[in-house]
Amino acid sequence: MNNLAFSVPDLPMLQIEGQSEQFPVARIFCVGRNYAAHAAEMGVAVDREAPFYFTKSPFAAVPSGQTFPYPTGTENFHFEMELAVMMGAPAFRVSADDALSAVFGYACALDMTRRDLQLAARAKQRPWDLGKDVENSAVISAITLAEQMAPLGPQRIHLAVNGQTKQDALLSDLIHSVPEVIADLSQYYHLAPGDVILTGTPAGVGAVVPGDIITGEIVGLSPIELTVGNRE
Ligand code: MN
Repeated sequence: MNNLAFSVPDLPMLQIEGQSEQFPVARIFCVGRNYAAHAAEMGVAVDREAPFYFTKSPFAAVPSGQTFPYPTGTENFHFEMELAVMMGAPAFRVSADDALSAVFGYACALDMTRRDLQLAARAKQRPWDLGKDVENSAVISAITLAEQMAPLGPQRIHLAVNGQTKQDALLSDLIHSVPEVIADLSQYYHLAPGDVILTGTPAGVGAVVPGDIITGEIVGLSPIELTVGNRE
């Protein structure tokens, strides 16, 4: 039996469609600028040579359908609708051809962002942690097993705020595909079951305010919903 000086929280757990078991979240890797139209709206060029990444703490992961406070330290809290890839097997230095065999399933995700702090950090060439590794900022829907998901292609990815469409694109618009991202990330990390990859957001990101209801869908996956709570 462990003899800990104090108790620590359990890893966040996510529902799996049709299963009583839950998915424990380990690491959260996020791809930046993976849709050309989003890179353009952020005023930056697309790097087609290789993806780049930032990370969120696993404790930033929260399930869909809840209300979380508008975070401190920002006046420009943004939504980003994304495809989440949930790893179910080890992957280290794999090829893109072999990458999908390590995928457990897929989900809808929101990469909630303090955009003002991210852009201020970017301007000073500092890391994005305060902008991106926000508490409760990795909202993830129930997981669909990979074998129950149609092959990744031109599925629609869509987000609305209070019923009004803000983001509307196709998964086939991804600059770096899911197998390419897994293969690239696996050159640097021993990817393992429980690891999560958020694959980037399409154009149309924007700010929310307390009381807003964010809803997102990807064809073939469980939808996602987040209600923005009051400021703390
Ligand atoms: Mn993102």
